[in-house]
Order: sequence, then C-alpha cells, then structure tokens
Amino acid sequence: MLADYHTHTPLCRHAEGEPEEYLDQALTAGLVEYGISDHAPQTPEPFDDWRMLESELPEYLEWIERARQHAGARLPVRAGLECDWFSDCHEWIVNLSGRYEWDFLIGSIHYLGDKWDFDNPKWLGRWAETDVEEIWTAYWEEYANMARSGLFDILGHPDLIKKFAYTPGGDLRRFYDPAIEAIVAGHAAIELNTAGFHKPCAEQYPSAEFLKLAREANIPITLSSDAHAPGEVARDFDKGAALLKEAGYTQLCRFERRSRTQVDF
Ligand code: ZN
Ligand code: FE
Ligand code: FE
Ligand code: ZN
Repeated sequence: MLADYHTHTPLCRHAEGEPEEYLDQALTAGLVEYGISDHAPQTPEPFDDWRMLESELPEYLEWIERARQHAGARLPVRAGLECDWFSDCHEWIVNLSGRYEWDFLIGSIHYLGDKWDFDNPKWLGRWAETDVEEIWTAYWEEYANMARSGLFDILGHPDLIKKFAYTPGGDLRRFYDPAIEAIVAGHAAIELNTAGFHKPCAEQYPSAEFLKLAREANIPITLSSDAHAPGEVARDFDKGAALLKEAGYTQLCRFERRSRTQVDF
C-alpha cells in the first residue's frame, strides 16, 4: 500500500520520460497513489538551469492532467511542487500555492549561502575545499527555519547535505536534535527519499539515526523515490519500507488538497 510523493517531469530540464511511462511504472510497482512534484519556478528568472519557468506552469499542469488521464480509475495522481527554501521565500511560496489546487508542497534546501546549489555535481571541486562542519551547521540551521515556516506539507530529503559523502566527525545529533525539534514545531511531514542510495553517500535520506529520532518524536513520514526517469519510480521501496519498519514506523502519509491523513502500511 505504498505511494510515491516525490517525482519529476522533463520540465525541470534534468528529467526524462512521458507521463504515461511514469504512471505505467507506478502501476507495475503496485503503488496506490502517485505524486508529481517537479522543481518549482523561482524568481528572479532565469534563476538557474534546473527547474521549470513560471511561464511553463500551464504546461506542467497539462503534464499532470495527462498522467491523470492515463491513470484513470487505477490510481489517484496528486499534484505538487518541490519548492526551494530561502529565508526570504515566504511571499513567493504563498504566491505559488495559489496557482492551482495543489495536493501537497515539498520544501527542499538545495541552496546555501551565496546561492550555492551544493547538491549540483558541478560543484564537486568546491566541496573538496569546503569546511564541512561549517556548511553542515548552515544547512541544518536553514532546515530548522524551513521546518518552522509552516509553508510546506513535506520537508524534502532531510540530510541532503551528505550527498557527496562529506560528513563531519563526532555525534551528528548536534545537528539532528534541533532539526527534529523544529520539525515537530512546524507540523510538516518528512520523507524517506531513496535517491540517496544511488549517490556518493550510498544511503537513503535521512540516515537511520535521524529516522529513529523522527519516529520517537512522532513526525509523520512519506516514502519517495525522487524519480527523474520512469524507471526510477518506487525505486528501492523495499529497502525504504524495511528501514521505516526498523525505525518503528507503522503509518505513512497521504495528501489531498493539502490535507494530510495517515494509513497503515
Ligand atoms: Zn531534480
Ligand atoms: Fe531536491
Ligand atoms: Fe526532487
Ligand atoms: Zn529532490
């Protein structure tokens, strides 16, 4: 009884495939719901080269409509966006949230400091010269701010900062604990994102330790693939579901018109 709430479309310029192909894969994988959450437009444009433009929002809605047509009565298709968190994004997120009857909005941090999209592979050289303790501190501070903002239904890939396997030493709870507290205060769900298995960090986002803390704090969760190609829909969901169970989770979230329910899995 799994759903995948974090998937992309070619409008972001680094994903491929047709809506029919994504939905066929979702059905093959036995999913009971499918959520589309492509990289949201960001102003001022052009902001970067890995998202849809504001003028492409109608095309995005058509893409979602095609997915719904293809799915028919077989499974519900939920409409969302993966929005970028910036400390001054409030007005823009409220603006985006009014453009359509979204079922859910994901908040993600891909940018830090001087507009550094730290998870972009083109910056591997910069990572080698970065103070890991310092950038982790900045990341988790922003993550807590995003969580407290209350703007999002799901907080994306919680420890994405580990993507290229630059992890500081010592007990990581100095980063995790304040983030968990902020997530509880902001009431959003988090996701277990399986894309990390295929990155240099070679594990899901977030870590098993973070998952356990989230479970103990009663933070609701979704399971997601972050698919950028049809073959990636529901990828590693067996591993993801096993990790959720190990952490003590028995329920997963569903979203419709930005209201959340939980179901046993
Ligand atoms: Zn992407
Ligand atoms: Fe992301
Ligand atoms: Fe994504
Ligand atoms: Zn993502």
